[in-house]
Amino acid sequence: CAKEDGRGTFRVFEAQMGAQLRDRRQLEHDLRLALVNEELTLVYQPQVDLDTDTVTGFETLVRWTHPERGPIPPSRFIPIAEETGLILQLGEWVMRRACIEAASWNRPLLIAVNVSAVQLHASNFVEFVQDILLETGLDAERLEIEITETAMIRNMSRAIANLRQIKALGVKVAMDDFGTGYSSLSNLRAFPFDRIKVDQSFIRAVHTNDQSAAIVRAVLGLGKGLNLPILAEGVEKPEELEFLRNEICDSAQGYWFGKPQPIAAYEDIVRGNSATLIPFDAKIRRVS
Ligand code: C2E
Ligand code: MG
Ligand code: MG
Ligand code: MG
Repeated sequence: CAKEDGRGTFRVFEAQMGAQLRDRRQLEHDLRLALVNEELTLVYQPQVDLDTDTVTGFETLVRWTHPERGPIPPSRFIPIAEETGLILQLGEWVMRRACIEAASWNRPLLIAVNVSAVQLHASNFVEFVQDILLETGLDAERLEIEITETAMIRNMSRAIANLRQIKALGVKVAMDDFGTGYSSLSNLRAFPFDRIKVDQSFIRAVHTNDQSAAIVRAVLGLGKGLNLPILAEGVEKPEELEFLRNEICDSAQGYWFGKPQPIAAYEDIVRGNSATLIPFDAKIRRVS
């Protein structure tokens, strides 16, 4: 009968919950090991200035190849790392590796590093960034930290105080995934970001979706009004790029220009051996 069905369903539900919890604990345990066993790597994705069609920097993104399970996406393990506090160790590893890498390049390109709320609120965060810069010899102006709006929300005054000190070092600060958080506009007023990255959900099919188009136009207008450069995330199609050029977007990033890859794939760009242009269709120019 219905009652028994319900109970049966609940047992299945309980069993699934148990399995999920075990899986999570296992991943947490494995992530601790991953940090010492060098299972983490960094990949780099080019950021392109749409005025000059040149690569101006790279965003670094962490990758984890589990010895048995293979690649595990950041969307799976970053939240676990944040909840367990492991993100502090992981974040330090990422920041150090990225700065060492960028300091070795022949060209003074920007290196953008994602920083989570937990790191931003840590009392030693500013000191840590300062130490890494000293240790690696990277110019502070070449480092940009990317933070999401949720990173600001938890403790606004602490976050803003830390960000101000970070900026005082010369480090740049970008707002990531703009438009997906809770109080975008007040955050823009509360803190002087160096640029904003419009979330890829608005860029996706911007050329066919009137609502996305209106939103992206409005954000670009906001950028102009506030004198704040805008980067479009997740550009995959030439039509999306064409739209962005027509609307005078400052810069872009996405599979169209280059996927996140080990730095060896971008060797020519960071060594300065080749033209700064990467192989994408430069014929698609701004129509003015
Ligand atoms: P994010 O910082 O917004 O990074 C952009 C994400 O979009 C990356 O996913 C990237 O691979 C993906 N992407 C870039 N271009 C395209 C495109 O044209 N199309 C599509 N469909 N996707 C594109 P990924 O590497 O899986 O990272 C997901 C998120 O995980 C990141 O979002 C960031 O919030 C977080 N994350 C990654 N690495 C780190 C890290 O080192 N530290 C912290 N705290 N978070 C990280
Ligand atoms: Mg990012
Ligand atoms: Mg983003
Ligand atoms: Mg420009």
